[in-house]
Amino acid sequence: MLNRTYFVISQSMKTIQMVDLKGQYEAIKESVNASVLDVIESSAFINGPKVHEFQKNLESYLGVKHVIPCANGTDALQIAMMGLGLKPGDEVITADFTFAATVEVIALLHLTPVLVDVDPETFNIDIESIKRAITPKTKAIVPVHLFGQCADMEAIMQIADEHNLFVIEDNAQAIGANYTYSNGKKAKSGTLGHVASTSFFPSKNLGCYGDGGAIFTNDDELAHTIRGIVNHGMYRRYYHDVIGVNSRLDSIQAAILNEKLPKLDSYNKARQKAARKYNKAFEGIENITIPKVVSKSCSSLCDNCDCHVFHQYTLKIKGIDRDGLAQHLNENGVPCGVYYPVPLHSQKAYKDSRYNEDDFKITNQLIKEVISLPMHTELDNEQIEFITKTVIDFVNN
Ligand SMILES: *Cc1c(COP(=O)(O)O)cnc(C)c1O
Repeated sequence: MLNRTYFVISQSMKTIQMVDLKGQYEAIKESVNASVLDVIESSAFINGPKVHEFQKNLESYLGVKHVIPCANGTDALQIAMMGLGLKPGDEVITADFTFAATVEVIALLHLTPVLVDVDPETFNIDIESIKRAITPKTKAIVPVHLFGQCADMEAIMQIADEHNLFVIEDNAQAIGANYTYSNGKKAKSGTLGHVASTSFFPSKNLGCYGDGGAIFTNDDELAHTIRGIVNHGMYRRYYHDVIGVNSRLDSIQAAILNEKLPKLDSYNKARQKAARKYNKAFEGIENITIPKVVSKSCSSLCDNCDCHVFHQYTLKIKGIDRDGLAQHLNENGVPCGVYYPVPLHSQKAYKDSRYNEDDFKITNQLIKEVISLPMHTELDNEQIEFITKTVIDFVNN
């Protein structure tokens, strides 16, 4: 390797973290502590008033009729599928390039996961691949709004209408993002399909201090069904009409989320601001592709972006050694991540002889090219400059 510069981290610079939960907490410490203490003093730990309050607050933030809180984002997906009455053998189409939770719950319910390829620019489920995967057994599509940007929901809802399919949005990574329809109308991610799930895992855009999740829908009947499912299938105490689960958001987590929800837009703005600075530094650099924002109202360099909430800031690196770059970053105190290093169709648990490698050309390529840089609400200019300099130094050598 030729004279690679090793930067001296200035003494004043805060240690760079992939996600800075502590820094974010410091700024809201008093109100969060007071709210948590309220719960402890009231002893209303399970289904207390804070949970109901959070449900109402989130419904009005999203503009959705029903929010049903639950224990985590994986449960939320599973419960949404149970609520829709999907049956063993029903085929559910989802993306090959995502976190395993999505395919895991499909398999757990004895539904048949049908993994399809993604779009090379947005990393989201590919529309033509969905169309090719539809069979008479297909019952649902699960688009994942990966890294903070909505999948092409207008096209997906059209396919769903034509084939009478349910659409379950996995909104774990995109809460707060806006989606713009071709007529200019906007709506929040997670309110675009028939039902959606989200996660409040600490590092998600709206994170609590433990596990948490929720299901959203505008369908009254489905909401009623789901409210029973999360509570052991009970619609009347000790009468179990359907097989349910025990999946609750606890009151302490709801108390924290109530304090954080009013800040979600400013948190997402802070992420977008960091993303814009990254974009400006990397724009035009050969071998680096900045994340593409695909929207009728935005672009990658838009100064007022509201359609990508950057759960991750993910570059594509071509023609240079991605793993070498990751190592260089780590050696210089810059954490980074590869989301995701293995496509789901190649995972031991989800391999299926029906899959053909040619059907996953994009995912198979992306796993070699993607690298995600630190992304959170507390990144400052000095840190971003250091990160971008460290990346560019490697790429230009
Ligand atoms: C985080 C995540 C989940 C699961 O959420 P948990 O709360 O950790 O169960 C599901 N899908 C995607 C895409 C995620 O990123």
